[in-house]
Amino acid sequence: MFEEINKFCSQRGVQLIAVSKTHSQEAILQLYHKGQVDFAENKVQELIQKHENLPSDIHWHFIGHLQTNKVKYIAGFIAMIQSVDSLKLCLEIEKQASLNHRVIDCLLQVKVAKEDSKYGLDPSEIDEFIEEILDLKLTHINIRGLMGMSTFTEDMDIVREEFSQLKMIFEKVKSKIPTVGILSMGMSSDYQIAIANGSNMVRIGSLIFGDRNYNFS
Ligand SMILES: *Cc1c(COP(=O)(O)O)cnc(C)c1O
Repeated sequence: MFEEINKFCSQRGVQLIAVSKTHSQEAILQLYHKGQVDFAENKVQELIQKHENLPSDIHWHFIGHLQTNKVKYIAGFIAMIQSVDSLKLCLEIEKQASLNHRVIDCLLQVKVAKEDSKYGLDPSEIDEFIEEILDLKLTHINIRGLMGMSTFTEDMDIVREEFSQLKMIFEKVKSKIPTVGILSMGMSSDYQIAIANGSNMVRIGSLIFGDRNYNFS
């Protein structure tokens, strides 16, 4: 399955992030030996352990809700934080990146899904957020783009609608921030719809590592 998805993505110029949360280090290593370098985790503790035990040239992405007091544990090595959703978090990443003499790539998480449980900036807050962050002139954070998730639903019209909303927000943000070029949207159940709607980075877990049954088409 990995080979098929990898081919599907690379043919379309889409970067594939393997979401390895809850999966074993052996499973990660297997993919790594097939050439996969980008992996994503959503828990700081689990990420730190895997980072310590696995090859140092793996690019780790953080995709879960990140508490400010935990930024310091990952700032030294994290390749990209995809779940930035507050100025407070930006300021802490800036501080910890600076202490580590690094510039950290970040994506702003935008909430286009209807569920209350999903984190992220509300689309109505984005303009103000962008102005505030540009005013801060942060030098150790590189805002590379946006990340978002669709509502967990069978109704693909809703999913399509949310992805196209995110794509519109992305275009607007891109016109204001020169470093923005990444639109991270699409998971196992909806990555093809996401790509059809402008995604250039997908985060896929269960379809690659197994767990649940999905049909690849
Ligand atoms: C778990 C997770 C994924 C991957 O989900 P799958 O359905 O297993 O592909 C993608 N993005 C985020 C933010 C996640 O938490």
